[in-house]
Amino acid sequence: MNLLDGKLVSEHYKQKIKTEVAQWVANGNKPPHLAAVIVGNDGASEAYVANKVKTCAAVGFNSTLIRLPADTTQAHLNDTIDSLNDNKDIDGFIVQMPLPPHLDSISVTERIKPSKDVDGFHPINMGRMMLSQPCYLPATPKGILLLLEYYKIETKGKHCVVIGRSNIVGSPMTMLMSRKANPGNATVTICHSGTTNLKHFTLQADILIAALGQAEFVKEDMVKHGAVVIDVGITRVDDNTNARGYRLAGDVAFNEVAPLSSYITPVPGGVGLMTVVGLLLNTLAAAKKKCIIKRIKINKIKLYDFKKNY
Ligand code: NAD
Repeated sequence: MNLLDGKLVSEHYKQKIKTEVAQWVANGNKPPHLAAVIVGNDGASEAYVANKVKTCAAVGFNSTLIRLPADTTQAHLNDTIDSLNDNKDIDGFIVQMPLPPHLDSISVTERIKPSKDVDGFHPINMGRMMLSQPCYLPATPKGILLLLEYYKIETKGKHCVVIGRSNIVGSPMTMLMSRKANPGNATVTICHSGTTNLKHFTLQADILIAALGQAEFVKEDMVKHGAVVIDVGITRVDDNTNARGYRLAGDVAFNEVAPLSSYITPVPGGVGLMTVVGLLLNTLAAAKKKCIIKRIKINKIKLYDFKKNY
């Protein structure tokens, strides 16, 4: 068993980003600037956003954290998004999900200007991804691709099984693993809550990507010998032996699955750290205007036009 070490690989990328930012600034440009909006006091979201802001500083980005109370109205959140869309100093921004239930996350995602949508969740970015056209890739799938690439894991012709079909992880991951690229070019099966006999599929996986959000769900008897196992899940599990009263668990029962896998990601220390790298790389691309998405009007219909690849 080999560890797919998110700590090692994320440090590698952060160093590269830091060097690139220093060069960019030395050439007279302003540092990339990422803003994050957080609504309410969800503990896990607070931790994720704090980590993103901290990492920005480590690579030389500017960052702005906008905290809004849990009872923020949709109108106020919309105004906040509009002002970030118009703020020339901000290169990209995210609205941390999940939002309190009275807020409409779909309209929030659609309100963010695609050229500043460094989470890659806007339908324009998602659609462009589907068509293999320039776009910001969603940060978690992007981080997983970087991890596979770093360890030179062959994906072409392999059978990749993804558990989970969410818009932010499972579905884009399926798409990216199947497209003609490296990593990619795999034959992909997507499993979800409607799948019967899940084990039948997971046992066929050369590469198994678990993104279902159920602690230690994937057991030893569900994994083929020699499989590459990517664990996306992060769930807080009560643990009185831990000072915080909980520990973080992945979707894979690591201790029993690791011995039969060829490569496996730990939780924590795996995909989560790579997600931040995906976000930083998208923000760097936004700052360098490598992926310019301009609103254009043809016959009074608003369209979006990507000017360059990145
Ligand atoms: P989600 O709840 O939106 O989607 C879960 C998916 O899993 C659904 O499509 C559902 O059909 C499927 N599913 C649920 N139970 C299942 C079962 N028993 N069998 C088969 N499929 C089942 O979740 P999400 O946003 O995709 O996140 C999944 C997990 O990944 C969560 O633990 C989340 O915290 C974590 N996550 C981690 C990162 C990271 O950076 N590591 C990023 C995003 C999400």
